[in-house]
Amino acid sequence: MEFNNNYHMLIGGELVAAEARLDVVNPANEQVIACVPDAGAAELDAAVAAARKAFPGWAATPIAERKAMLDALADSIFANVDGFKRLLTAEQGKPHHEAQGEIMGAGYWLKAYTALDLPETVNEDSDERLSITRHVPLGVVGAIAPWNFPMILAMFKVAPGLLAGNTMVLKPSPFTPLCTLKFAELAKEILPAGVLNVITGGDHLGPLMTAHPGFDKISFTGSTQTGRRVMASAAPTLKRVTLELGGNDAAIVMPDVDVEKIAEQLFWAAFTNNGQICIATKRMYIHKDIYEPLRDALVAYARTVKVGDGSEQGTQIGPINNEAQYNRVLDLIQDAKDNGYKFLLGGEKAEVPGYFVPITILDNPPEDSRIVQEEQFGPVLPLIRFDDFEDVLNRVNASDYGLGGSVWGSDEDKAFELAQRVQSGTVWVNETQHLSPLAAFGGMKQSGVGVEGGLEGLLEYTSAQTLVRRKKAAFVN
Ligand code: NAD
Repeated sequence: MEFNNNYHMLIGGELVAAEARLDVVNPANEQVIACVPDAGAAELDAAVAAARKAFPGWAATPIAERKAMLDALADSIFANVDGFKRLLTAEQGKPHHEAQGEIMGAGYWLKAYTALDLPETVNEDSDERLSITRHVPLGVVGAIAPWNFPMILAMFKVAPGLLAGNTMVLKPSPFTPLCTLKFAELAKEILPAGVLNVITGGDHLGPLMTAHPGFDKISFTGSTQTGRRVMASAAPTLKRVTLELGGNDAAIVMPDVDVEKIAEQLFWAAFTNNGQICIATKRMYIHKDIYEPLRDALVAYARTVKVGDGSEQGTQIGPINNEAQYNRVLDLIQDAKDNGYKFLLGGEKAEVPGYFVPITILDNPPEDSRIVQEEQFGPVLPLIRFDDFEDVLNRVNASDYGLGGSVWGSDEDKAFELAQRVQSGTVWVNETQHLSPLAAFGGMKQSGVGVEGGLEGLLEYTSAQTLVRRKKAAFVN
């Protein structure tokens, strides 16, 4: 595929423009790098109509054929990794090596998901009746993706949605639409017309989608605040929703870790993708016995990390993706300054073009500070001292969020015991952020509704249907 600067939406198997256009900015230098269609109600109606038209044919396509097409889509991503990688860095900001990891992950997600099948349960098979429960597709799914991992998080939805037999309308974030539109060009060559439609637009487009009566389900990944709006807007037509929302993941570091060995791993748990990961470590609770040495090791490692334009050789952390998020992170830093919290590193605005915030680490701010209680979604990490396990669990669990979390310790059984008491959808022991297409992933509490991944995630794109067949009915000869 040619990674030229022409961007079109995919509606009903055709690459189409919209009357209005939307600028896309490279966050490393604030330059406009492309224009994409800015769809409105008319384009949305066309996309929904195309998906509705394609639905009966796709739902009736044998699952093995649907899987073969997902597999081909994955291969077409793999065949274009280099172009996607460069484009992802330009629109999102992440360094090339991370961009490559995301693109490979997107292909892998599509491929690996094909291992799953829709189960059929025999509830009763007696002389009197046969009762089975099967899972049928819902219809048309609206998929709304965020800007932190535009490609892989879109595939979290496309893989189960299409495998289950639904047709879809996918909308990327207005900040990161480019890779998704190039992916649409690949999909055009592989999928029947209308099975996957891709539309792009500004802030108005998401609410138009969630309110549209032509969708049977909305699968949304984004902030908790927007998730509430999505759920309210989906309610009048009782659309199914899967909501993958924000988090404030805690890492609990036990006193028996090897401080020197663990510091680098803990650093990246918080700062990969510039902290813009829903399951990034956003508050780090460190046992008092190792607080000072680990604090110092983290800061020493952080000083070696290169922040810069993701397209430059050696860059390890890029800019924040967009101006609104950049201002939000600066506001949290200002709040910490205003309250006199101690900065170990960073805290100053980088006076260069681009949305750069230096790596910032705070020394034991109070539990009720904004930087501990809120989701920062940027390169600012509070280190918090604890001395009692019950107390730290209470603090970790006293949050409206419940997305992920991690426990780190040499005594793996003890760490695993603690992990089971963290109220989050995923808890890791001695690693973090490892996700699998074959494992359910979702948030507890206000971090989400439903899951993606695994059989549980696949079934969220279906309705259970029970079929009951009477045997030897009285009126049958
Ligand atoms: P966001 O909520 O601002 O936007 C997400 C998407 O929703 C975008 O495509 C946006 O255009 C669209 N949107 C905005 N307003 C809408 C509305 N009223 N109705 C429907 N759609 C609307 O989120 P973001 O800033 O792009 O992403 C960052 C957030 O996403 C963070 O909170 C992060 O934790 C969360 N996130 C969660 C997961 C997860 O799997 N749980 C994964 C990644 C990111």
